[in-house]
Amino acid sequence: MPVGRIASFVDRERLWSRHMALGRIGTFGETGVNRPALSALDGEARAQLVSWGRRISLLPSTDPIANLFLELPGSQPELAPVLIGSHLDSQPTGGRFDGVFGVLAALETLEAMVAAGYRPRRSVVLVAWTNEEGSRFAPGMMGSAAFAGARPLEPILALRDADGISVADALAGLAAGEADLPRRPLGFRPAAYVEPHIEQGPVLEAAGRPVGIVSGIQGKRTWRVTVRGAEAHAGTEPHASRRDALMAAVEMIAALKRHLDDPADIVRFTVGRLDVTPNAPSVVPSRVVFSIDLRHPDAGTLLRLGDGVAGLCVSAAGRCEVEVEALLHDPPLEFAPGLRARMRGIADALELPWQDIASGAGHDARHLALLGPAAMIFVPCRNGISHNEAEYAAPEHLHAGARLLAETAARLAEADDDEIRELAS
Ligand SMILES: [Zn+2]
Repeated sequence: MPVGRIASFVDRERLWSRHMALGRIGTFGETGVNRPALSALDGEARAQLVSWGRRISLLPSTDPIANLFLELPGSQPELAPVLIGSHLDSQPTGGRFDGVFGVLAALETLEAMVAAGYRPRRSVVLVAWTNEEGSRFAPGMMGSAAFAGARPLEPILALRDADGISVADALAGLAAGEADLPRRPLGFRPAAYVEPHIEQGPVLEAAGRPVGIVSGIQGKRTWRVTVRGAEAHAGTEPHASRRDALMAAVEMIAALKRHLDDPADIVRFTVGRLDVTPNAPSVVPSRVVFSIDLRHPDAGTLLRLGDGVAGLCVSAAGRCEVEVEALLHDPPLEFAPGLRARMRGIADALELPWQDIASGAGHDARHLALLGPAAMIFVPCRNGISHNEAEYAAPEHLHAGARLLAETAARLAEADDDEIRELAS
């Protein structure tokens, strides 16, 4: 099979119109998307995907955490399958491309294989991971974490959203509308995993390259800080005796900002959430919960900076009590060198200008890398904007990324187990 044959069946117009169709499920404003994980809207997007897959006889299935699969069976189905995809959930202020591109590029890959009359040796399986974004149920990348065994299922099922709805309840609600989907057990070992995604940064656009081959993902640590003080009257309680949880939190955040200041601008430090109780204008706050998100590409630096967080919060607490809970510690990750090398060769053969690029954001591919060779394909997005209504990726760039995925998946689907082993090194 000549290189480029499968890619030649990738249909730019179909790929684009499907982005627009999914963008109408949960739309706000002109082009925004708010599609929370495991919501009715999520169910609607999943049903649309299954319906497209069934048109070309793909086999749908779902697992105990509602990861959704569409399978093109191989001629040797006993071999480990090639897994491709991303996610369908969005941030509350999301756009039409984050996650969706990876899922639709995977669907387009399967469309191209079917249209070419190509029967892969290994099965090729599309996946849409559950709750990548983590905005409804935190932390995110929940479906891929459970699938890869990075986090046990039981505590995930007990997580609750801001309305008190548990993951287990939300899963039951979703499952009621998907009674016709076969269930499969949680987890399997793929031969390889490839995830396409918009870059969510400015690098590819500035370089004028339609595809990036992702070298790895920077490390990330997160915390939840709970500050406890005492409610008091804003007019009568003297400052000397106040236990103002918000003022203490402000001191902590200022101390963290000084500690994490980086003249080279490589450290990423964010306090994205601040919940104030009782959140009333004339009451001294009694309780504040805030989030800390810290990222760095170097494992040692991330460890050193992060290990200072709890101590700084305690020493800035004043008369309040503080509890610092470490939620997540993902060290920096390098994707499979052999797989990336093959993808570079395929991009060259397709005459797609490419470059290596590091990912500043986390992705489900992090968890899949625990199971076998994993890699990602980035495409440019306008002005690097993401998690925003203005998020935009050009049809020709989506097309380029999908072509690279289609050809890569076809090569992987023909690889024997020795070739698969070589992808890791
Ligand atoms: Zn995403």
